Amino acid sequence: MRILIVEDESKTSAYLKKGLSENGFVVDTAAEGKTGFLLTQQNEYDLVILDVMLPGKDGWTVLADIRRSGKETPVLFLTAKDSVQDRVKGLELGADDYLVKPFAFSELLARVRTILRRGPVRQPDVIRIGDLVIDLPGHKAVRGGINLELTSKEFSLLALLARRAGEVLSRTLIADQVWGMNFDSDTNVVDVAVRRLRGKVDDPFEKKLIKTIRGVGYTLDHE
Ligand code: CA
Repeated sequence: MRILIVEDESKTSAYLKKGLSENGFVVDTAAEGKTGFLLTQQNEYDLVILDVMLPGKDGWTVLADIRRSGKETPVLFLTAKDSVQDRVKGLELGADDYLVKPFAFSELLARVRTILRRGPVRQPDVIRIGDLVIDLPGHKAVRGGINLELTSKEFSLLALLARRAGEVLSRTLIADQVWGMNFDSDTNVVDVAVRRLRGKVDDPFEKKLIKTIRGVGYTLDHE
């Protein structure tokens, strides 16, 4: 079981890491939100322990980013605040539990075990954006009831855009995630693939979902 701790207080972070490691968990740490979020995209964690007050990107934003990226990794919030409002906000954003500082390590460990017992990470199987339905395990995409005949690369590209709907993805990121290669020198490959994908996903329909963000990359949304 692999756990990520995102906590800027080095003492707390070290104390949690030591305790969890002693209990058999593999533990990574990040001291700020941005790094924490990046680690959740690079590695598969069974749980993220997330401090609310962090320099730069705060815990709320990190959780929202994780959920927007399509990941359902369980999140346990740590916070010094104990207002009802914070609790509601955390749970609305998709936190799995909430622990108020200061807490005993035994209390944290009990919460961690409860969350992990709920089962494996829940990944969404089907993504719906407007009239577009993407069946991830079935490798099928349907729009307006019409089955889209996509090649496997086109499907991967569409799935990536859909998992991170509303987010602008750079050509470099797309090349890396879809082709697993560094296309820095030739991001034209991405443009060609997006053009082909548009021909199937957008051209036959009035509402266009794939948008070009000039100088940056592409985004898929239903605004
Ligand atoms: Ca903090």
